[in-house]
Amino acid sequence: MKILVLNAGSSTQKSCLYDINGDIPSSPPAPLWEGKVDWSHNQGVAEIEVEKSTGEKLTEEIATDSQSEIMARLLNTMSAGSTKVINQLSEIDLVGHRVVHGGREYRQSVVISEKVKQAIANLAKLAPAHNPANLAGIEAVENLLGEVPQIAVFDTAFHRNIPDAAAIYPGPYEWAEQDIIRYGFHGISHQYCAERAADILDKDLRSLRIITCHLGNGCSLAAIKNGYSVDTTMGFTPVDGLMMGSRSGSIDPGILIYLLRQGNCTVEQLDYVLNKASGLSGISGISSDMRQIKAAISQGHERAQLALDIYVHRLRSYIGAMLASLGGLDVLVFTAGVGENSPEIRQAACEAFEFLGIKIDSSKNTNKLVDQDIATTDSAVRVLVIHTQEDWQIARECYHINLRE
Ligand code: ADP
Repeated sequence: MKILVLNAGSSTQKSCLYDINGDIPSSPPAPLWEGKVDWSHNQGVAEIEVEKSTGEKLTEEIATDSQSEIMARLLNTMSAGSTKVINQLSEIDLVGHRVVHGGREYRQSVVISEKVKQAIANLAKLAPAHNPANLAGIEAVENLLGEVPQIAVFDTAFHRNIPDAAAIYPGPYEWAEQDIIRYGFHGISHQYCAERAADILDKDLRSLRIITCHLGNGCSLAAIKNGYSVDTTMGFTPVDGLMMGSRSGSIDPGILIYLLRQGNCTVEQLDYVLNKASGLSGISGISSDMRQIKAAISQGHERAQLALDIYVHRLRSYIGAMLASLGGLDVLVFTAGVGENSPEIRQAACEAFEFLGIKIDSSKNTNKLVDQDIATTDSAVRVLVIHTQEDWQIARECYHINLRE
């Protein structure tokens, strides 16, 4: 079965093609073909990068704003030229889309219909940077591939069972009635990592209490019990919770009232400040990229050091909060750009919990192997570094949905 996965961001579109023959493999296979379009560098210019599993690559730049033209070019590289992996696009059996917001209604993956498309459009008010891009990807596939079944896999769905006490904000109850609740995000990644952790440890997922730390440009934690997310740090929007690359994470809401009252800030400026000019970038004044923060620290840059210290402080605080929601811990997972590549952050996060018997092996922590247990043999908690594979998780969801129908 050939499954195309599309993962659309505000200025990028990543996609890949998996071929699943027979039973679904327990370890993620490499995709047959991967493609990416990036509009972020030059306005009106799409940079396309394509790679086959056998190594052939293609890069090109196309000057156009037309998303449908670019999508056609991208997808056609699967069936023609040096990156050809199939004879024709009609060989694709299913298309899975990462859709950022499923709201309250969509609590699991669904086959996309007109009604689902309308719901994704309506939910753009909750995810203005993402849901419209997801919808554009769905419509581009409709135009290019016609009747192929398309599946929406929601980044909010894994958090659907968070209990009211964790999901409802303690403002007026009317907020909850207006759907202003904690939705949580990165659900596809948290779910993949929890399932992969159980596989690596050869344990039943339902027997484990897991905290997954997704530390990328965006950062969030999930507390996972019996295979379900029971708490998470992102909330009504992805600005909540941990300090991130350029987002603030949780701050005293009184600061916003103060700034608005001073009259120095419009709503659009506040949006920009909290999402783009805060976090590692805002504090250091250098970059949202952890590699550059570390490089600056090694040159004695004080605000870079402060940014790192706040990042670690927040990470520890929220791990503590997730621990409380779980009532104990069996597995701590680190994933995404920082989680997978920064032994210092893993070490600093775990150090605060040595009193619980969490111990990491420093040589395992610094080696670059992925999907590894880096805890010492006598640690009370297993500590895993897992390479998150959201696209594979989406392909798996599509595969299972197809079997049920
Ligand atoms: P996204 O959330 O956009 O998917 P990623 O998961 O790719 O992002 O994470 C991106 C972040 O990962 C970068 O901003 C950078 O801070 C961090 N990162 C990547 N490689 C390393 C590394 N070797 N050491 C420390 N941080 C890294």
